[in-house]
Amino acid sequence: MFSKILIANRGEIACRVARTCRRLGIRTVAVYSDADAEAMHVDLCDEAWRLGPPPARESYLLGDAILEAARATGAEAIHPGYGFLSENAGFARACSEAGIVFIGPTPEAIEAMGSKSESKRLMEKAGVPLVPGYHGADQSMEALRAAAHDIGYPVLVKASAGGGGKGMRVVRAADALEAAIEGARNEAAGAFGDDTLLIEKYLDAPRHVEIQVFGDTHGTVVHLFERDCSIQRRHQKVLEEAPAPDLPAETRAAMGAAGVAAAQAIGYVGAGTVEFLYQDGQFYFIEMNTRLQVEHPVTEMITGQDLVEWQLRVASGGTLPLAQEELSVSGHAIEARVYAEDPANDFLPSIGRLRHLRPPSEGPHVRVDTGVRQDDRVSMHYDPMIAKLVVWDSDRAAAVRRLRAALEAYQVVGVSTNLEFLGSVAAHRAFAAGEVGTRFIEMHESDLF
Ligand code: ADP
Repeated sequence: MFSKILIANRGEIACRVARTCRRLGIRTVAVYSDADAEAMHVDLCDEAWRLGPPPARESYLLGDAILEAARATGAEAIHPGYGFLSENAGFARACSEAGIVFIGPTPEAIEAMGSKSESKRLMEKAGVPLVPGYHGADQSMEALRAAAHDIGYPVLVKASAGGGGKGMRVVRAADALEAAIEGARNEAAGAFGDDTLLIEKYLDAPRHVEIQVFGDTHGTVVHLFERDCSIQRRHQKVLEEAPAPDLPAETRAAMGAAGVAAAQAIGYVGAGTVEFLYQDGQFYFIEMNTRLQVEHPVTEMITGQDLVEWQLRVASGGTLPLAQEELSVSGHAIEARVYAEDPANDFLPSIGRLRHLRPPSEGPHVRVDTGVRQDDRVSMHYDPMIAKLVVWDSDRAAAVRRLRAALEAYQVVGVSTNLEFLGSVAAHRAFAAGEVGTRFIEMHESDLF
């Protein structure tokens, strides 16, 4: 096992990684920007290294500066968290060239899965079911128009390099296609530096169900069951839960097997998530994320495992802590993403000082993953997440009750938050009934605001 690692991130995920390291006796190096000199993640680590000014491009995205910090402090490995450099194949390669372990998959796996088109080609070969669509190399308007026609409207135009719900457009009829393609292309070129598009059949009422997979360097791959992340706003996750409500046992088993097959097809090492859409009893691959996901705590709550510990073990060359048949599900967990944002103002980030902050008390049923304390500032430079509130109980109905109580107990003064909005979703009859879907918020809008 490593004796010292550098955590190339900030906020709740940097704190969360530091906690597991402390428990395992691994020393930690924090990196920080000037906006974070007194941040919680800096306090939680044993050492700290300044990267630069607040903008991420001048701090948390500076791969060379981070490698220099690792070398200077004698860190043997780098945990990238999620976001920032976590899915940057060039950074993973630079780490290995510098003789420092990147805690994540190989650069080749990151590259292959970073392209939705390439990953769909690979998954097709591996026999994993795909959303019907076009992910070919011919990007001419004629080819895309012919593909959309063959798929049948409505279609979804997506940026191959996309993420975070960006670069996506629903097209309901042929006459709107050209404008959507031009728009998506520009957005993709600007946001991702790659304007490759793919076209998918637009499913009208899917659920988002994803499989947590894990591979080690000895060729073993297991899955840690599924998460349902259907409650989304503009294609971004709001609530996540595990297990997925009312998923037939055969579907659950088939999805788990497809997730493992996907990871095996590319010799995957480390934590990964294979995402599917599920509708009318069928599931379809949409993409694979090659990092630890924001919503990993719900999987930890139902399996009793520490996924960061798994990552550290695998990255240091160890075998997976448990075999597939040793893993099982207990109870039900739900995560709510608590944000400093203003639901009354199109959910725009709400910047300012957290003048009063009191999360619900933690215990075996309630977990709060956060990177801020009272009096800290929510900065305009980063994701305005305050915390991930995660609850567990013996069944879904009890977990929903826990969630509602915990959301009500959460006190934040100084910035606007989405707590009340989350509470309305958690209290909604359809949510209680497990009637989840990616258009849930849109469909129940009038009840939620
Ligand atoms: P990103 O990488 O930007 O998160 P994804 O491909 O993972 O994009 O899709 C994000 C969300 O968009 C999905 O969870 C789902 O809600 C919606 N979505 C994606 N593809 C489709 C599709 N073919 N039909 C309907 N909804 C889709």
